[in-house]
Amino acid sequence: MVIATKFGGTSVANGRNLEQVIDIILSNPKRRVNVLSGPGKRDKEDIKLTDLSIGIGNAAYEGQNYMQLLEMVVQRFVDITSYFHINTSFLDPLIASLNNVIKSTPLSKNQYLDGIKPYGEIIISAIAAEALRMKGVDAQVYRPEDIGMMTNSDFGNAKLLDGSYQRIAQVLNPVLERPGKVIIVPGFYGVDSNGRYVTFQRGGSDLTGAVLANALDAELCENWTDTDGILRADPRVVDNPEVIKMLTYREAREMAYSGAQVLHPDTLMPLIAKGIPLHVRNTFAPEREGTYIVATKLPTGSVVEGITHKDGFSMVYVEQMGMNEQVGYLSKLTGIFAENGVSIDHLTTSVDSVAIAIDNGNGRLNMVREDIIKSGLVDSPDGINIAYNKSLVCVVGEGMRHTTGVMAKVSSALASQGINIETVFQGPSERNIIFGLEQKDAIKAVRAIYNLYFGKPAM
Ligand code: ASP
Repeated sequence: MVIATKFGGTSVANGRNLEQVIDIILSNPKRRVNVLSGPGKRDKEDIKLTDLSIGIGNAAYEGQNYMQLLEMVVQRFVDITSYFHINTSFLDPLIASLNNVIKSTPLSKNQYLDGIKPYGEIIISAIAAEALRMKGVDAQVYRPEDIGMMTNSDFGNAKLLDGSYQRIAQVLNPVLERPGKVIIVPGFYGVDSNGRYVTFQRGGSDLTGAVLANALDAELCENWTDTDGILRADPRVVDNPEVIKMLTYREAREMAYSGAQVLHPDTLMPLIAKGIPLHVRNTFAPEREGTYIVATKLPTGSVVEGITHKDGFSMVYVEQMGMNEQVGYLSKLTGIFAENGVSIDHLTTSVDSVAIAIDNGNGRLNMVREDIIKSGLVDSPDGINIAYNKSLVCVVGEGMRHTTGVMAKVSSALASQGINIETVFQGPSERNIIFGLEQKDAIKAVRAIYNLYFGKPAM
């Protein structure tokens, strides 16, 4: 059985970091399938390679000069390669191929950018394989196009096509039968039926790692990053938050969707399908425990596992006396959102009112409002109110299911900080409680809830 790994952008940001990645790969012979992100920032002021590539694409598309940006990209790779004292000539065909893509005639801007964006991943993978070979390891790069990782043609938002898993297994399983063979796969993209590169959403190398783990029936998927694991709260909000030891897939999905930065939210689906655990670990402190994400866990003793928040929500409040007695009211109401192409994130009802939370709905909500009024679902236009710039603060933890008084404790902690809770959304699973409030209160709210559950007792 193999371990599939994915190393994030900072893990491969420079030669020294990449060397650490190589040490990690070699320290466990099961790490046979390794996905790399494009080089990330070396320091706060630096630019991620993906962003440099997008900059090149934007400039070239507009007919502007992109040479300086391209030189920065090339220099970055030359520096990383030189760290390993490898002759840089193997980079030439890769840079030439990048140049060809830049000079190609685009059909659409998104398609054009997607042709350029994966080069960070592609070139760093070539360097890693070269550096591994220098150490006598039988390493080889398999690009998504070599292994049948096929997607639709939604450039920048690729969705994997079903047959991909089988094709990947067909190509890579025989490779894995060769003892000692180490596979490197550039993350972040697949190819459509016309052979064009199509990138996943940003951060999508996570997904590449999970897809490979599924296709190859890995015993474990590792996600190597620059934090000690998944943190109980955003470190920009709470000082030094604790690391979560273990989360269920469901808890992790709730956290990823509600604002935790560590994982691309779609990552878990391929792993859940096969029950493969995900281990989030720190490349720069591999001795630390990290966070395990698993199908089920024994009670950890924690009621709450993590607290996240996400800004930019709009709330639609609909009030209509007696809506609870009208058969099909909710279905008609939500149908109007669907017809306008607005996806509903959360919804909660009471006898005469409904509150609906929408992520970024700004552009289309006025149409929704007009259609609701036209449909007669409210007696008067006053029955519908839309509020913008709201935050959702999400408290996640399977432990809440068996604990009474969570809501009471959290609400009073927020009240004591003078924070007004405008709406509460709670799923039937009792795995999360989501508080809708003013954006300006969100950070204070996260801190208050964190202190309630994880604050150090006063000395
Ligand atoms: N390099 C890509 C990005 O910056 C993909 C990734 O790192 O996962 O989004």
